[in-house]
Amino acid sequence: MNEPFRRALGVIRTLKQHGYEAYFVGGSVRDYLLNRPIDDVDIATSALPDEVMAIFPKTIPVGLKHGTVVVLHDGVPYEVTTFRTEGTYENYRRPESVTFVRSLYQDLERRDFTMNAIAMDDMGQFIDPFDGQMAIEKRIIRTVGAAEDRFSEDALRMMRAIRFVSQLGFQLEEETKQAIIEQASLLTHISVERKTVEFEKLMAGPFAASAFSLLVETNVFLYLPGLAEKREWLQQLSTYEWPVLTSAAERWSFLVYVLNIEHVASFLRQWKLSNRLIKDVQAILHALSIVRSFADWTKERLYEVGAAVALSAEAVRSLVNGENGEENGQALRAKLASLPIQTRQDLAVTGKEIIDWYGRKGGPWVEETLQKLEQSVLAGIVENEKERMKAWLKWNQTHEKNC
Ligand code: ATP
Ligand code: MG
Repeated sequence: MNEPFRRALGVIRTLKQHGYEAYFVGGSVRDYLLNRPIDDVDIATSALPDEVMAIFPKTIPVGLKHGTVVVLHDGVPYEVTTFRTEGTYENYRRPESVTFVRSLYQDLERRDFTMNAIAMDDMGQFIDPFDGQMAIEKRIIRTVGAAEDRFSEDALRMMRAIRFVSQLGFQLEEETKQAIIEQASLLTHISVERKTVEFEKLMAGPFAASAFSLLVETNVFLYLPGLAEKREWLQQLSTYEWPVLTSAAERWSFLVYVLNIEHVASFLRQWKLSNRLIKDVQAILHALSIVRSFADWTKERLYEVGAAVALSAEAVRSLVNGENGEENGQALRAKLASLPIQTRQDLAVTGKEIIDWYGRKGGPWVEETLQKLEQSVLAGIVENEKERMKAWLKWNQTHEKNC
């Protein structure tokens, strides 16, 4: 057992001392078996939420309806969830309410894929009634029980299957894949927000290329916002090395660019992305259009879009053109480092100082003066030093008057 589990052992042992069952479950057990880094250690228990809260001094009732209580143990929060089944599914979605049960088996049985339905006890022994370990060894994704039933209970699982392909590089087991092909249309019942969560994870996975191929092959893409008409382009996306992109904004920009999306803002809004993210994507696309029309970055254009956006655009551009993004990024960084100023904050003078120098009331002229200074500093006409800029402005003023 490794560190994250050992640190959480106290939670499991305390529950056991009080006569309840408790196990590690879900993604952390799967990732442990795969030797992947583990983030959240989740715990399942036979104790009801009230019982969990009565035992531990520090708890947060985060999702009582679903049986989840966060227990703070040695300063680390753990999600402790009561064994449950999901009762009856309606409208191809997971229900709002769940039924608590006292058996681990039933809790594992309601989970989506066999690799996600393995429990581990406090001695490091696995409880694996659905052969999840074998699926992990064979690197396959297979539903717990009949795929057809499991996907019609909750259609989102079809997207989860494909995003796990992207994250783990596993294959879809044949029956599981066939069931997705047959039932992809049930995804119309799933909210965009839940699709977006899965799609963003899918784009961020090391095997995103295979996942895009599967989105097309299974017809799942037909039920994703703005993608139904993009079959050929989506297939294109399976030929790129996605992991060179390092942020959600870069991935959405790349997607929009390769798919030739016309109305970018409305496409991104359909996915219900945050305004912040939409702005970031638009900035990257704007920067991309600048480099593409001028073939290269000038100091002025770099300054205008800013370092972060320029580097993101360069990463996207390199990937689209099949160039070495690492090298291009280095070259751009060197260019950025050679700029006398990177942002207005780097300017050795502020708007307030300019107002003092001139002894005039503030107004649009201050912004104009700042812009003139920025351009001149960038062009190397004047040094980014307060007294020199002051002298230069004064000279300019008399010069302009004389003309
Ligand atoms: P990660 O957190 O790395 O994205 P995970 O496997 O932990 O992957 P979560 O969404 O955190 O995925 O869910 C935790 C566990 O809950 C899963 O491992 C699975 O056992 C179960 N689970 C999650 N979503 C579903 C679902 N839609 N249907 C059935 N079981 C699910
Ligand atoms: Mg998880």
